[in-house]
Amino acid sequence: MRPLIALVGRPNVGKSTLFNRLAGRHAAIVEDVPGVTRDRNYADFIWDGRTLSVVDTGGFEPESRDRLMSQVRQQAQLAVDEATAVVLVVDGREGLTALDRSVASMLRRSGKPLFVAVNKVDTARTEGEIPLADFYELGFGDVHALSAEHGRGVSEMVDAIVEKLELPELPPPPEEQEEPQEVEEADRPRGDVRIAIVGRPNVGKSTFVNALLGQERFVVSDVPGTTRDSIDSIVQHKGQRFVVTDTAGIRRKRSIAQKVESYSVVRAMKAIDQAEVVACLLDATEAGVEQDARLLGLVAEKGKALIIVVNKWDIAEREGATQDWYEKELGKRLPFVAFAPFVFVSAKEGRGVTKVLDRAVRLVEQYRARFPTPQLNELLENLQDEHPAPISRGHRVKLYYVAQVAYAPPTFVIQSNHPEGMTDHYRRYVENRFRDAFGLEVPMRLVFRERK
Ligand code: GDP
Ligand code: GDP
Repeated sequence: MRPLIALVGRPNVGKSTLFNRLAGRHAAIVEDVPGVTRDRNYADFIWDGRTLSVVDTGGFEPESRDRLMSQVRQQAQLAVDEATAVVLVVDGREGLTALDRSVASMLRRSGKPLFVAVNKVDTARTEGEIPLADFYELGFGDVHALSAEHGRGVSEMVDAIVEKLELPELPPPPEEQEEPQEVEEADRPRGDVRIAIVGRPNVGKSTFVNALLGQERFVVSDVPGTTRDSIDSIVQHKGQRFVVTDTAGIRRKRSIAQKVESYSVVRAMKAIDQAEVVACLLDATEAGVEQDARLLGLVAEKGKALIIVVNKWDIAEREGATQDWYEKELGKRLPFVAFAPFVFVSAKEGRGVTKVLDRAVRLVEQYRARFPTPQLNELLENLQDEHPAPISRGHRVKLYYVAQVAYAPPTFVIQSNHPEGMTDHYRRYVENRFRDAFGLEVPMRLVFRERK
């Protein structure tokens, strides 16, 4: 189990800012941690070769002063129960409040390692002006003046936590030394989500994009596209910006149908290249035909996150089709995209279209995620305990060590004594166990290498 650091404190002291500072630049993986409910922010981050988790216990809207007091205390209690260490975040510019003191006395009784983050100390000058001694009064040994917003003092506090918890340093995985640039890239901050809308002619791409733009606030439409022949629209949905590339838009303006046909694949390919998530529309009344399969095959080859959007569901539904049947049937016809989730929509009736955006967010999170090495290795060990790898030329194939070497798509290198002895069957088994363990619905790559 990774050590869990809980950020506790009253609203507005800067807990979320600190959370984002610690984990925001690393992909957050939301998991089921017992007792930690889903509406809380939960993320892993890597510090000096150690994997830590952080939970931000905030995010509630107190209705009254009394409620505020009890809610903060409740949250703090929960954190104390679950956490390895607790950071009480206070606002350095406001000084100590009665609520801070009350939470502090509760935390003190817990016996957990405690730290006080005196936040909003943005400059050395402010630090001089703030009576830090007051905060020592809380009875916590470790008081850290910091600025979550500017990053000042944050690493010193995390160093202190790591030291106090006596976390062993993990041996650096050889792959990370070999290919550090690839992993570094995963640090890019979360920005817009780029979605390409693709599908063969007449599946309903234009109708779908219009429905989307009609339902959600779009900031700018008709931005010159990533390619000369596509149209980008910027859509805002639940606080996330999406750049939606519509590959249908231009076709209408062209006159010779046949030319269009061959050209549209090129256009779709360009849009796919620029996107992280591809929403491939199928027509529910004739889904999984060869043209669909060809397009989906190309998407899979490029390793993009994929949503299979079954459109014109209104018609199929009237005819008594069920979603289960579709998923099973299409799964058989399109086994190479078995990882991809389905969304059933009626673009014409505007039903289900924003579900595609919700799904895209989830996929992008998985797509850019960094998976903690200890967890990966535990999984690798367990899956071999349950099903040992095959025997190759008289030797049992052993998988020793796994590390994630790239993201988008998540790429894992597994070291083995006999990588050449891997069978397709066992490779699929490993992949499926990875998928199950992390709920992965995006393409992933497994590379087997000989241990040097
Ligand atoms: P939470 O309710 O405890 O999660 O607090 P937030 O992280 O939402 O921060 C509350 C406010 O304090 C926001 O307006 C932040 O921009 C601001 N804030 C957070 N950290 C700092 C900091 O280090 N310095 C300054 N000056 N403002 C900060
Ligand atoms: P595109 O070529 O992929 O852009 O497809 P269009 O958006 O032009 O749609 C092709 C045809 O399918 C049009 O006649 C649409 O009205 C129809 N259509 C699109 N979406 C739906 C839907 O959800 N239900 C039904 N019944 N018809 C649809």
